[in-house]
Amino acid sequence: MTTTRDIPAAAAFADEAKQSPARVLDQAGNGLADSASNNPVPAPAGARTNLFDLDRVSLEDFFEQTLGEKRYRAHQVMKWIHHRHVTQFDDMTDLGKALRAKLERHAEVRAPMVLLDKPSADGTHKWLLGMDPRNAIEAVFIPDKGRGTLCVSSQVGCALNCQFCSTATQGFNRNLTTAEVIGQVWVAARHLGNVPHLQRKLTNVVMMGMGEPLMNFDNVVRAMSIMRDDLGYGLANKRVTLSTAGMVPMIDRLGEESDVSLAVSLHAANDELRSELVPLNRKYPIAELMAACQRYVQRKPRSSITFEYTLMKGVNDQPAHARQLARLMRQFDNAVQMKDAAKVNLIPFNPFPGTRFERSPESDIRAFQKLLLDAQVLTMVRRTRGDDIDAACGQLKGQVMDRTRRQAEFRNKLAAQGIDPDGAGRDAAA
Ligand code: SF4
Repeated sequence: MTTTRDIPAAAAFADEAKQSPARVLDQAGNGLADSASNNPVPAPAGARTNLFDLDRVSLEDFFEQTLGEKRYRAHQVMKWIHHRHVTQFDDMTDLGKALRAKLERHAEVRAPMVLLDKPSADGTHKWLLGMDPRNAIEAVFIPDKGRGTLCVSSQVGCALNCQFCSTATQGFNRNLTTAEVIGQVWVAARHLGNVPHLQRKLTNVVMMGMGEPLMNFDNVVRAMSIMRDDLGYGLANKRVTLSTAGMVPMIDRLGEESDVSLAVSLHAANDELRSELVPLNRKYPIAELMAACQRYVQRKPRSSITFEYTLMKGVNDQPAHARQLARLMRQFDNAVQMKDAAKVNLIPFNPFPGTRFERSPESDIRAFQKLLLDAQVLTMVRRTRGDDIDAACGQLKGQVMDRTRRQAEFRNKLAAQGIDPDGAGRDAAA
């Protein structure tokens, strides 16, 4: 998974942050309710509605109930925002002047602030996006033959404390709003000149960035509905993928409320090892997780589930582990009576400062894949992309820390010259 951490834009925020420490799941798998209830910073009273927060139905309701307008007006505004990337109501030229003025009073279209925008020589592109003065997340676009995939975050930090994950080291700060989730797609689509149905450069979205998306269920499901809406980004259901560490009850709820592709971060095929790597496994062990996956597939005939498996040297990359994984995958195919219902995505571990894990040697990765393929399990190895911009999982934190240090130095210089840093800090970060 990708990673980032707080970017304190001003020293004052550091003290505040100390008073509200991040939370994580403990080794017994406890602490979820505390984290899940930590919702985004509420909007100040009287604040205008950010239209990025609304999917088609809620925007239609907003037009009818708040503005006293016809519901179809919502469709015009959605196209302006998501197809043409327009955020100023005055530029929405097919809306009457009176309606534009009304929108200005009651609403806004506020995208995340781009703090860092970095292209890679191989076409990968990374954005570091400010969500509020203390928090930033990242989104990464990865082009490939005939497709362009955007990796999107769902939370600032994460409570699940997976042992090999850089994001876990910062703990959980807060859930992202719908606007902050779909805002990542909007920033990438605008940059790419993406036009749904015409010039489609963004073809897939994966909810595999920071955070556990199923712990921010409502906001994520609403954002995914905008991704799949023709008035939004028009992506087919199978082109939007949600990745979970195994929140079993929420997998069932997702099956009831949405139609997206599912990926599961497995990383081990036995409970003892998985509980060590993914503490959530103590709460929802592999048998329960696989049963939930089975129910998910059975609700959606012809769908498959991707099982992600990060390979760490000497931890989970031995032939015995591969054979165990192959058995589990074959059992799954048999249970749902469909060949290739389970696909495996092998991910070479991406070391980050302070981790005790190492990447498996290439020969072990290939041997692991071969064992699975020989057992008739569809298995891919994820290629490393964007090396020159640290876009691969687990690499952003050091850079952000450097950047934070540079910002602090810049602010100190301004202060020494008698210039108010808060007047200039925002531009410095942009
Ligand atoms: S679910 Fe696990 S791997 Fe994913 S962001 Fe959270 S701690 Fe990292």
